[in-house]
Amino acid sequence: MAGKKVVVVGHGPIGHAFIEKLAEREAGFEITVVCEEPRPAYNRVMLTQYFLDCDGDKHDQMKLSYWSEEDLKSKNVKLVYGRATSIDRDNKSVSYSKVSHGGSSVDEDTDSLQYDILVLCTGSFCFVPPTPGFVLPEKKNPQWPDDPASRPEGVFVYRTIEDLEALIAAAKNSKRAAVIGGGLLGLEAAKAVYDLEMESHVVEMAPYLMPTQLNQEGGKALERKISSLGIHVHSGAKIQEAVLDGGKVKGLKFIPNGETEPIVLD
Ligand SMILES: Cc1cc2nc3c(=O)[nH]c(=O)nc-3n(C[C@H](O)[C@H](O)[C@H](O)COP(=O)(O)OP(=O)(O)OC[C@H]3O[C@@H](n4cnc5c(N)ncnc54)[C@H](O)[C@@H]3O)c2cc1C
Repeated sequence: MAGKKVVVVGHGPIGHAFIEKLAEREAGFEITVVCEEPRPAYNRVMLTQYFLDCDGDKHDQMKLSYWSEEDLKSKNVKLVYGRATSIDRDNKSVSYSKVSHGGSSVDEDTDSLQYDILVLCTGSFCFVPPTPGFVLPEKKNPQWPDDPASRPEGVFVYRTIEDLEALIAAAKNSKRAAVIGGGLLGLEAAKAVYDLEMESHVVEMAPYLMPTQLNQEGGKALERKISSLGIHVHSGAKIQEAVLDGGKVKGLKFIPNGETEPIVLD
């Protein structure tokens, strides 16, 4: 196996765990990881901790990190920032594009890597419901469901450090935030926007919070508890659209539980 080229696509928690185990073996693999995010893998499960690690405008990202760029280098793992775009199985090569992280999509700047073994650790992406206004149809990117450029200004997902940084920046000029989904992550996000001093609303289509984990009684008890903290809960809501103005979100239109007419949360 010595000298074999292992290319890992995706440097999330699983890509990291795989590389860590492979490096431990000291089997002489030439390991390269193609990392789409602008930093090495970090503990995504602890993402919300990022808010607590804020110190003014300085955020300590390393608290969430597994290995730094230097750690990877010291383990002879080559880190390539980019997004894998195609695999040529006959020639055993994978092409990738350099990703620009200013909120736009993939650059034209491409390169490729030869591999003996290719491991895809590309994980998951946020499910964005097909509700009008959540994504700009003309900017939808079939190659990249999480492409930030496909979303209207003011619409975020909750998955990466960049998502949180964008949220923190937007909070400086916003008064109110609606979080779609009253599951575990939705409630984490609702607490986060509350801590960012925005009026925080959770809009859940099920009749009570955390419908996957709780029964109605438990979900309603949780709703009372969350409401008593100052977070507004709208369960049983039928979301109709995000109201946009010039590519920017202005409100959320939904029919509250038991009502027939929609309201707009500005
Ligand atoms: C806020 C939050 C809290 C969570 N809490 C929990 C929890 O309590 N318990 C739990 O079990 N799970 C939790 N999860 C889910 C958990 O984070 C995921 O299951 C885990 O991150 C999966 O790891 P992964 O490496 O497989 O995928 P991902 O974390 O999705 O990482 C995949 C990586 O591959 C990159 N990638 C994708 N395509 C390409 C490409 N073409 N080229 C290059 N790179 C690419 C992505 O950008 C990403 O960096 C939570 C998730 C979030 C967002």
